Amino acid sequence: MPIRYGTDVLAPDDPRHGKVAGYSAGCICSGCRKAKTVYEKHRIRQQAYGRWHPWVDAEPVRAHIRQLAKHNVGWEQVARLAGVAEGTVRNILRGRGGRPPARRCRPWTAEAILAVQPTLDDLSDYTMVDSTGTVRRLRALVALGRPMEHLGRMLPLSHEHVRTVIRRNPSGLVTAGFARAVRDLYEQLSMTVPPDTWVHRRAANFAARQGWVPPLAWDDVDIDDPQATPQVGKAADDHVDEIAVERGLRGQRVQLNEREKATAVKRGLARGMSRNAIAAALRLSGSKVSALAEEAGQPDTAETPDQATTGRRRQRSHTGTTCPSPDPARSDVAA
Ligand SMILES: [Zn+2]
Repeated sequence: MPIRYGTDVLAPDDPRHGKVAGYSAGCICSGCRKAKTVYEKHRIRQQAYGRWHPWVDAEPVRAHIRQLAKHNVGWEQVARLAGVAEGTVRNILRGRGGRPPARRCRPWTAEAILAVQPTLDDLSDYTMVDSTGTVRRLRALVALGRPMEHLGRMLPLSHEHVRTVIRRNPSGLVTAGFARAVRDLYEQLSMTVPPDTWVHRRAANFAARQGWVPPLAWDDVDIDDPQATPQVGKAADDHVDEIAVERGLRGQRVQLNEREKATAVKRGLARGMSRNAIAAALRLSGSKVSALAEEAGQPDTAETPDQATTGRRRQRSHTGTTCPSPDPARSDVAA
């Protein structure tokens, strides 16, 4: 059967995109073409050196599929996760049409199947796993204002060990049991705001200086994928981070986008906070708060900003013609 080539051959979420397997299936999207080009260059170079192996031994691949089966990952699921056709995986495992299992397979097939790992829940407590997601979760909780010592008390490891994992993570590995505990703790804590005390502010400030990002930055990307990058600016543009709004209204240093500022002002007024109190908490000028209040349908009642309550870092912008820029002292939190 001839292969039909096109950009619509594979579903958009097909895992084969960006791999030679995608191109082999007929996809000519930029990712698949690039993978094919890289592969062809590699092949030509290897052939020039007389080292070209278009086929590899299927035995280690077969062993890996059997190993995955022990962790409750069936061969059909292996095919799906690896982005390899089911028939190919079945042929490696059992053979086809009464023939014995395949002795060899394509190198990209082997690579894709060997890269499939069982899910965290299927592993025993002491199996070592990649620590990427664990480290990111812990750092995100610190960025939210959870001190490492507190996290240590909630986890089945000494807080010195937790600190080591968070700060340096020298091995790049953690036990599956620890990874599960951190994942569950993150589920529990990532949507709650810790109390506003200096201990928590210190943790958040420390994280900001390290460039650690809060959970929000990981909402739309896979936190366990080592290739994924946090969405720091993007997420802040149009989302309203409820936690940031609440923190802002409590006077904590947070970077709020325009929508969050508007939400915070509206909410503060609804709670009976004065404009001065809102301006002080959010570190905005009185005129900015007035403008946002009017947008929210709350006309000005001739209040004047009270310097005494707005804090020493508040920018003095009384003209009302320009929006004040964010407090420069907060730029360390924006990282
Ligand atoms: Zn593709």
